[in-house]
Amino acid sequence: MHVLVTGGAGYIGSHTAVTLIERGHRVTIADNFDNSSPVVVDRIERITGTRPTIAAVDLLNKEALTNVFAADTPDAVIHFAGLKAVGESVAQPLRYYATNIGTTLNLVDVMREHNVHRLVFSSSATVYGDEQQPPYSEDGGHLNATNPYGQTKVMIERILADLAHAEPDWSIGILRYFNPVGAHESGLIGEDPHGIPNNLTPYILQVAVGRLNELGIFGNDYPTADGTGERDYIHVVDLAEGHVAALEKLATTTGAHAWNLGTGTPTSVLDVVAAFEKAIGKPIPYSIKPRRAGDLPQSWADTTRAEQELGWKATRDITAMARDGWRWQSENPDGYAGA
Ligand code: NAD
Ligand code: UDP
Repeated sequence: MHVLVTGGAGYIGSHTAVTLIERGHRVTIADNFDNSSPVVVDRIERITGTRPTIAAVDLLNKEALTNVFAADTPDAVIHFAGLKAVGESVAQPLRYYATNIGTTLNLVDVMREHNVHRLVFSSSATVYGDEQQPPYSEDGGHLNATNPYGQTKVMIERILADLAHAEPDWSIGILRYFNPVGAHESGLIGEDPHGIPNNLTPYILQVAVGRLNELGIFGNDYPTADGTGERDYIHVVDLAEGHVAALEKLATTTGAHAWNLGTGTPTSVLDVVAAFEKAIGKPIPYSIKPRRAGDLPQSWADTTRAEQELGWKATRDITAMARDGWRWQSENPDGYAGA
């Protein structure tokens, strides 16, 4: 298959591009490098021996996107492109709604004009909101989110479900990721956030290489085993493999389908810190800080549907996530900027 990967220069997209190429698919990456580096393309080539085609386009520019489709029409699209910082979305809601929803509307319109109807979309566990109880299952109830970023995912899920309902040609996979962490085992690609990381594991890794002094743990008074927040961390390569499984499933089914991609196992902040300390080989200094606004005590996936319908299951544990994350960060202390 020829797969167009929007946002394919980003963290999850680059790992998925590698898995797609390794499985024999042809990849075109469409990215404006707003939150990523062109160096990633060299790294994908080094890992796979194949250089993906690059289309440096902003998906908000529909004409540019149309040209990408006209030049080499894909068989399917995986749509990662978008903005993802929760705090920034609270401060700049219109930018988030315009970008995340605008890029998706442009994309499905151009797909339809070129008779391409197979789409995998990056959603998030954030759509389960704060009213449902974990483990979250796909048909567990009303979707909601506690911030504008999450609301864009809720809205796009609705748009895609309505589209598939109105036009039965479409095969759409909505993948609800839990907490992607780690890196490709080569150490050549990984997560490279701009500025101070919002997420736990990039923060730990930047403390480990001396870019940051100390980790703040946001709360140790939650009703959990050790008092810190629990999440379902999933190795980014397992996540990448879940995308390929979804693409293959969509070849034999129509409509819009939501699948959770997680491990089904919650891990506490303190247990994540311990796993990374072991991989890094030294302690990570931390102090306990107040709870972060909007954080849930616990979140983890019911993975039954993905296992049954996609024949996919995460296989890499927190030890592998820490080992591979550390290999990436220790070999690229300044991320792609140091390349
Ligand atoms: P990322 O920022 O590393 O990748 C997104 C890519 O999209 C970047 O390369 C960026 O340059 C590109 N992009 C942004 N706006 C664009 C535009 N207008 N036109 C073209 N390209 C554009 O993020 P990621 O962590 O790889 O996340 C990928 C997707 O998965 C996002 O949709 C995100 O919301 C979703 N997601 C991520 C997580 C997570 O924890 N990383 C969790 C759940 C869902
Ligand atoms: N967390 C923390 N310190 C940080 C970043 C995160 O203690 O610097 C905690 C956070 O409160 C949550 C967990 O780590 O319990 C995962 O947070 P992250 O931001 O990585 O993911 P999300 O909140 O999206 O699940």
